[in-house]
Amino acid sequence: MPALSDRTKDFTDSVIRRMTRVSLKYGAVNLSQGFPDFDPPKEILQRLAEVSREDYNQYSITWGAQNFREALALKQSKYMGHPINPNGEVVVTCGSTEAMMVAMMSVTNPGDKVVVFSPFYENYGADAILSGADPIYVPLYPPEFNYNPDELEAAFKQKPKAIILCNPSNPCGKVFTKEELLFIADLAKKYDTFVITDEVYEHIVYEPYEHVYMASLPGMWERTISCSSLSKTYSITGWRLGYVIASEEVIEVAKKVHDFLTVGAAAPLQEAAVVGLNFKDDYYKDLARKYQAKKDLFLKGLDDLKIPHTNPQGAYYVMLDISEFGYDSDLEFCEVLAEKVGVGAVPGSSFFKEPVNHLIRLHFAKRDDTLNEALNRLSDIRKKISPLHK
Ligand code: GLN
Repeated sequence: MPALSDRTKDFTDSVIRRMTRVSLKYGAVNLSQGFPDFDPPKEILQRLAEVSREDYNQYSITWGAQNFREALALKQSKYMGHPINPNGEVVVTCGSTEAMMVAMMSVTNPGDKVVVFSPFYENYGADAILSGADPIYVPLYPPEFNYNPDELEAAFKQKPKAIILCNPSNPCGKVFTKEELLFIADLAKKYDTFVITDEVYEHIVYEPYEHVYMASLPGMWERTISCSSLSKTYSITGWRLGYVIASEEVIEVAKKVHDFLTVGAAAPLQEAAVVGLNFKDDYYKDLARKYQAKKDLFLKGLDDLKIPHTNPQGAYYVMLDISEFGYDSDLEFCEVLAEKVGVGAVPGSSFFKEPVNHLIRLHFAKRDDTLNEALNRLSDIRKKISPLHK
């Protein structure tokens, strides 16, 4: 058989998604891959039922159905504080996963450098490799996951084409402050760099933190490529509806990449999701409140069990410190956790450039009874997983 492609040699399948399969294998409560087990808003599901009887069975316009783009542009103009033209500044994609890939392919050439904070969402490593870019990793330091401004500037001095900014951040839960974003924006301007944002958790932020859109900062509209999705905001991760919002110059190119990658997102699902995009402010406030309650429930449970963990400012992930178990491999620990304790987690090493091995990531986007069941199972963790190497 001829050799397979070189570009696929340097990364594995997604460990996040692999852990869902491991959880299924052991019947574990799956807190690995981040997706809810509660229903999306009923208005969206009702509209989906109607749409199935209407004529939405063929392709929509490749860069997104007209009414979806109009509803999205209206909503995002309001939240992003910048008027968005639905006909020139939006591409609808198959999830934010495609949006990020489209953004990377649209701005980078093979050999270009891209700044990535570590820890980072797993996909960015593969995105960089597939688009031929070389990541420059800049550490975020716990407990607040702050960057060191000198280290960040040193990365920009290497003339990267873009920086990837996941805000609110998966997996560490950091919500970048306006001051931090202004500092990044100044560097982007000084060194002529694009900012590619991944803002899928834009509406899942815990008080007193607030989400600031990079694209809304002075002079940043032109150089920011804003990627996000409807997955987390409307609890429809399986619908694969994402988007890129950027200036017309960038979108002209993004449209081409998207067109040849996927042609388009599912037409009936775009139509049904318009109802959600038209929701009023209250919906987003309720969503944040609902996640605050889940965060409180789950983190209190971990505290009661005396399991050390991070305290997210946004998104729905928490990282647990498993040093006490003395495992050399966090991947092996997660396998044992799924099998013996019955809880699915993602090994922290999937998110760090540094050799971090003592953290695992759980998410709390689940019904309260699911979270309570997970906590109940975790209460036996020290009985079921004995410390190694001690
Ligand atoms: N963002 C989710 C996570 O980090 C999963 C996204 C995906 O699998 N596409 O778990």
